Amino acid sequence: MGQRKNSVRVDLNLNIRGLKKSATLAINEKSRALQQAGKKIYRLGFGQSPFPVPEPVVQALRENAHQKDYLAVKGLLPLREAIAETYKRRQQLSVDPEDVLIGPGSKELLFLLQLVYYGDLVIPTPSWVSYAPQALIVGRRVNWVKTHQENDWRLTPEEIAALCEQDPERPRIVILNYPSNPTGATYTVERLKKIAEVARKYKLILLADEIYGELHHSGQHVSIARFYPEGTIVSSGLSKWCGAGGWRLGFFVFPESLRWLLDAMAVVASETFTSTSAPIQYAAVAAFQQNPMLEDYLSKSRRILKFIGKAIHSQLEAFDVKAPKPQGGFYLFPNFEAYREKLSQRGIHDASQLCDRMLDEIGVALLPSYDFGRPSTELTARLSYVDFDGARALEVLDKEYADKELDQRFLDLCCSDMMNATMLMRDWLTN
Ligand code: PMP
Ligand code: GLU
Repeated sequence: MGQRKNSVRVDLNLNIRGLKKSATLAINEKSRALQQAGKKIYRLGFGQSPFPVPEPVVQALRENAHQKDYLAVKGLLPLREAIAETYKRRQQLSVDPEDVLIGPGSKELLFLLQLVYYGDLVIPTPSWVSYAPQALIVGRRVNWVKTHQENDWRLTPEEIAALCEQDPERPRIVILNYPSNPTGATYTVERLKKIAEVARKYKLILLADEIYGELHHSGQHVSIARFYPEGTIVSSGLSKWCGAGGWRLGFFVFPESLRWLLDAMAVVASETFTSTSAPIQYAAVAAFQQNPMLEDYLSKSRRILKFIGKAIHSQLEAFDVKAPKPQGGFYLFPNFEAYREKLSQRGIHDASQLCDRMLDEIGVALLPSYDFGRPSTELTARLSYVDFDGARALEVLDKEYADKELDQRFLDLCCSDMMNATMLMRDWLTN
């Protein structure tokens, strides 16, 4: 018998046709498959925390494995209270627990926001890979705002104002993600205040994606909600600072003036995912309670990321690959433009070819900047410096570096593979 013919008409929604699996998840799966096939792969493509979930939070999950009931759509009240408290304590924001919405990852909440709010999406190029595809799926217009390398690829208040001036009454959501995925750069308080002024003038919804906020390398993250409280929604979750990407827990913190928007998102949530996993929500309460163990975990994670980020950044610069200085999170955004001539002799003319060939020839996985909205011919890419054993790095830090500056030996002990990857890149580029 021949193959049975598909009896269902091929009729994908227009907005979905042509979309591919999200670039971050695709590189993760590809790197893993190559590794399983026995190839040595340096996994600098996917952005996942290298650190284990802190013990008090894991313990809380153990204790709550029996929680089996569906929870309230907006989330577990003690968790929303704990998050509201955290924002009061850390960012001096007055947050009512009623203005906190829990979801299965902040990614899902970002999607719901775009679904329920009728407005254009405004994002800088480069931006995290999923904002624009989400907008396209729900049929929103995307405005990519130009940025410049000299300004570390950050949004400027002037560029946002110029865009808004073209049609001042248009509803818009501006996403400000800092510390940034993919650049690792952040914003000064002065710059945040100026962006807040523009947002107020044009009545923008500001979505502050602060998921890497706790991983500001000096622990000095400032939420823009302080300067534009009436129009800022803060987005965050457990995925990055708490090492729990796979737990799928994110949240939005709304101002009271936008409670109608939270309520609208909750209606859609109630018709789709219902509520976020109960054991995970109970465990997450522990992640937002004041606890010296968590403070310690965070300050160590920051110290390690800061040191490694700086080390790789200076190695890259030593062979003429420029990137913004890392200030938070775990990404670098290297520019290989200095090698354009050499690369083009090898048939490499854009970032996708560059990343494909590096993966094939030296096993180094990066993500091309095209996936972050940069022009396809630009030779920039994202490097996630997370391919090391975070548990071991924390242990070495504790045992040997409690009162000592981190040094080359620490890199040799904890992330020699990743440092080798940078050297392999250098040799591959220069030879
Ligand atoms: N925003 C940014 C900038 C991210 O890098 C990620 C990646 N996880 C997310 C949002 C979504 O995170 P999650 O859904 O795990 O909360
Ligand atoms: N945010 C991570 C990244 O940028 C991966 C997770 C995801 O994209 O959902 O690599």
